[in-house]
Amino acid sequence: MKKNTKIINAGRQEKWTKGVVNPPVVRASTVVFENTKAMKHATANRANNVMFYGRRGTPTTFAFQEAMCELEGGYGCALYPSGAAAITNAILSFIKAGDHILMVDTAYEPTRDFCDNLLVNLGVSTTYYDPLIGAGIETLIQENTRIVFLEAPGSLTMEVQDIPAIADVAHQHNCVVMLDNTWASPINLKPFELGVDVSIQAATKYIVGHSDVMMGTASANEKHWPQLRENSYLMGQCTSPDDIYLAARGLRTLGVRMAQHEKNALTVANWLLSRPEVAQVLHPALAQSAGHELFKRDFAGSNGLFSFVLNCGNQAALNAFLDGVEHFKIGYSWGGFESLIIGMMPNSVQKLRTATTWPHQYPLIRLHVGLEDTDDLIADLAQAFEKFNQVLAGK
Ligand SMILES: *Cc1c(COP(=O)(O)O)cnc(C)c1O
Repeated sequence: MKKNTKIINAGRQEKWTKGVVNPPVVRASTVVFENTKAMKHATANRANNVMFYGRRGTPTTFAFQEAMCELEGGYGCALYPSGAAAITNAILSFIKAGDHILMVDTAYEPTRDFCDNLLVNLGVSTTYYDPLIGAGIETLIQENTRIVFLEAPGSLTMEVQDIPAIADVAHQHNCVVMLDNTWASPINLKPFELGVDVSIQAATKYIVGHSDVMMGTASANEKHWPQLRENSYLMGQCTSPDDIYLAARGLRTLGVRMAQHEKNALTVANWLLSRPEVAQVLHPALAQSAGHELFKRDFAGSNGLFSFVLNCGNQAALNAFLDGVEHFKIGYSWGGFESLIIGMMPNSVQKLRTATTWPHQYPLIRLHVGLEDTDDLIADLAQAFEKFNQVLAGK
């Protein structure tokens, strides 16, 4: 099956749908058994999509987990109430006191905060590494290194990592390879073919796609699935069937939405290249973005999220730009149908990294390009540049 056909069919087995199109919302805490034999059967098969207790999931859960595995290529998929919970629980599932993890320097900020503020108290140390390190990561691996964690492209600054080169070295040292795969969504990268053991999605973003549900997924290969599943269960992780229903509904249009986000973002990115105020456009599909060759090698496409760096400006001018746009709303997160914008001064970008030095002097702006008409979006940015320039000129 080709990608778009798979997106439509994934997880829609008749045993889950009971003959309607979408697997329905099945809400449950208690599952009642006909007799002791049925209870025994459910207990023995509680990890194999048999109704046992609400926390283990219902057919709504099972159908979505199956869909995620079909699309992303994992053997099993655990669900969490947010992307952040997927990250922290995946890490906690594979470490013990005294262990060490290698974390990419351009990780999503809450991932760093988890390492620095929580793992450290559990006796687990973290070393941050340059996202462009590739096979050179070997020099950072210690006797007690247990997890090598990647995120590609990096949050805010969009560096693409050499996933197979890093995974290869990590496996030679018996480390678990985890990837925050949110940017690619389940359809633009094949993490397990590249050597990833656990692939994490903030489903909150493109899977849900409508900015109204928080959810995370962690998919594992066959070797790592039992440990991820059982430890996440021990930590009490479960997800509301109503939310899963919305995520499953979002999934069906992922292909067309991603294609349109990609097209719109490239139109806006190429327009930004022509602006005199722009120093660099950080978009993996553009040659000037770090890791562009790796993007071309490993990814099937891009999406609506990228950043650009200015060659002039200060905090006041940046604020004038951000306050001056109309279609791009100021807000965290991304992956919904709507355009969003955030901006940062270079010292704030530098604060989020310790292994690398951010080379730019002027503001960075991150856009999520939504499904609006790009003529409107470009006109919006053009008039925001005017406001930015007026503040810079002291007018
Ligand atoms: C948003 C995001 C997360 C966290 O997801 P939440 O559902 O907001 O907790 C994790 N990783 C990346 C790359 C993200 O963009």
